[in-house]
Amino acid sequence: MIFQISPFHKSFFQNREFYLKRDDLLHQDFSGNKARKFHYFLEKEFLHVKRVVSYGSNQSNAMYSLSVLAKMKNWEFIYFCDHIPTFLKQNPVGNYKAALQNGMKIFETTNRAFRAQSLKDEDTLVIEEGGRQKEAEFGLKFLAYELQKDIEENGLQKPFVFLPSGTGTTALFLQKYLSFPVFTCSTVGDEEYLKKQWEMIEENTENFPKILTATKKYHYGKLNLELYELWRDLKNQTNVEFDLMYDVVGWKKLLENWQNLDGDLIYIHQGGIKGNESMLQRYKYKYDIIDL
Ligand SMILES: *Cc1c(COP(=O)(O)O)cnc(C)c1O
Repeated sequence: MIFQISPFHKSFFQNREFYLKRDDLLHQDFSGNKARKFHYFLEKEFLHVKRVVSYGSNQSNAMYSLSVLAKMKNWEFIYFCDHIPTFLKQNPVGNYKAALQNGMKIFETTNRAFRAQSLKDEDTLVIEEGGRQKEAEFGLKFLAYELQKDIEENGLQKPFVFLPSGTGTTALFLQKYLSFPVFTCSTVGDEEYLKKQWEMIEENTENFPKILTATKKYHYGKLNLELYELWRDLKNQTNVEFDLMYDVVGWKKLLENWQNLDGDLIYIHQGGIKGNESMLQRYKYKYDIIDL
């Protein structure tokens, strides 16, 4: 095993008790759930592979984690994104900066998924955007086992899990290996989008996670003062830094539904803190927040 077991502890928010699974602390160089999703590629030997190719946004946690994987494996890492703003090129920050330092070769293209797929050959591993693929199941099975153990050790009677989804891969495979409910919410598209993502990687539609919704719409990656304030309150009350892309939207939707969910909440912290560097910079710039 490459990873230590991630910590599990009790926490409080708005005077309500819950448990936190600290996958953000799984590995210092990986973003939490991306470490789980890429565990398979870390652990297996790929004798022919010389490079890894992927695509997605220019500040993606998956991109950064793949740069770490490539470095560890001594592979070349090629990444396609839509666009890199000139300001970011001149002032690299966050995941983008760290991935470049790990040797990533990044290209701008209007056809990123196609460009990545077209490089596929026996020397080249192509990883879907955000690591949405079957191989993720391998690492998420470990997370499910750890949770079973955490629950026993802490004597939780009626556990349920909540975690925000991007592609939904993490929530999907967790539910597959857990005998209690997994709740999630979409942060990228709507409910339908999330179900479509699940259908792409799993034929059996019986055991999909349950999707929580909220009255308000939040646009992926868009700045929103309400979300920033929630992030700050979470930090002050739990002493834990959450992620500004997924967690804040997840907590918003969770808080709207929490009173209707029966049992002991386990919140999975999926990491992504390196991505906060660029988000905080944008917040500071846009809202002139002085205590940042
Ligand atoms: C990637 C990521 C997610 C989304 O994971 P999916 O498996 O795509 O649903 C959520 N939170 C953080 C911090 C992430 O980095």
